[in-house]
Amino acid sequence: GMASWWSVIHGYNHPIINTALKQQIDKMSHVMFGGLTHDPAIELGQQLVAMTAPELQAVFLADSGSVSVEVAMKMAIQYWASSGQPNKQRFLTVRNGYHGDTFGAMSVCDPVNGMHSLFSQTLAQQLFAPAPEPAFDAPCEAQHTEELARLLVEHRDSIAAIIIEPVVQGAGGMRFYSPAYLRELRALADENEVLLIFDEVATGFGRTGKLFAYEHADVVPDILCLGKALTGGYMTLAATVTTENVSRTINQGEPGVFMHGPTFMGNPLACTAALSSLKLLQEGKWQSQVQAIEQGLKEGLAPCTRLAAVRQARVLGAIGVVELHKAVDMATIQPRFVEAGVWVRPFGKLVYVMPPFVISPSQLAHLCRAITKVVADIA
Ligand code: PMP
Repeated sequence: GMASWWSVIHGYNHPIINTALKQQIDKMSHVMFGGLTHDPAIELGQQLVAMTAPELQAVFLADSGSVSVEVAMKMAIQYWASSGQPNKQRFLTVRNGYHGDTFGAMSVCDPVNGMHSLFSQTLAQQLFAPAPEPAFDAPCEAQHTEELARLLVEHRDSIAAIIIEPVVQGAGGMRFYSPAYLRELRALADENEVLLIFDEVATGFGRTGKLFAYEHADVVPDILCLGKALTGGYMTLAATVTTENVSRTINQGEPGVFMHGPTFMGNPLACTAALSSLKLLQEGKWQSQVQAIEQGLKEGLAPCTRLAAVRQARVLGAIGVVELHKAVDMATIQPRFVEAGVWVRPFGKLVYVMPPFVISPSQLAHLCRAITKVVADIA
């Protein structure tokens, strides 16, 4: 039910990705990515540029989703420094967000879920607007962005970028919101001269029914974070993709390069897994698979809504969420799911699934029946 935290979209042990990785091992497993490059990284960069919006032209390969967020934040700061505005170093975000576990990423996670109080002496102090309210199919009214706009206008001289998960807030609450909200954000960011970062580590590569969630809104960010499903869940790899303008501005400023260069950047095996996974995606079956999962989840989770323990069931693309009135007891609920023959890992009040795109209709029906039964039993 979890596709190993959203990542294993083609299922486990895929023969095509397995073969590509075995062949790459026999060519080269790793080489430093400073002053050197290699075919899998070049091809992957080209592929990501081709798949994303035409405005997104430059790719930085990062080690994990959290690091892709760190990289995006550093890019935004360095972009403004190179533009003669070195004071723009803060970030504006919304509540209920989740962007990873490293310090920069943590600083823009929801202050409560992200446990800011525990790390309060060290975490950068960012600006938080209310979580996006309008429902997925609702319009965005002025009051929905009022507080965000106020913070933006007040602090625009110190804000480098707005960072947000587009359309779906994942680990911070599994909330879906209106794409119209993102169109407002784009306009507000432009008016106030701040960059817009979309964190699509969880939503990227088809999960919401579009290849990238920003396509629901027809809005393009200045910086895009990708990870998880990038390698089909085989290896840790992420990418931070940006515009020609951001890339060129950074390279023309001081010190003339982007200041980030980890040891395993652009690892050839990880790039090969990603290329192979993207090739599978490009066959295009994901579209009908995700549509079928959406339909299957809507039908399969509908009986949950009649249970006393359930506040709401919601589905978008290949994401199904059953929100309960009370937090679950993990120690008792986890074994019940295993007994029912499924792997589901709830958190707090949320029992949620995002299965591999290759899940069969009968497996999906089994998964939904198991959720309905376990939730009925715990009530
Ligand atoms: N951003 C989002 C939206 C995520 O969902 C996650 C992981 N759940 C991350 C960033 C961090 O990715 P990673 O766990 O690969 O560091």
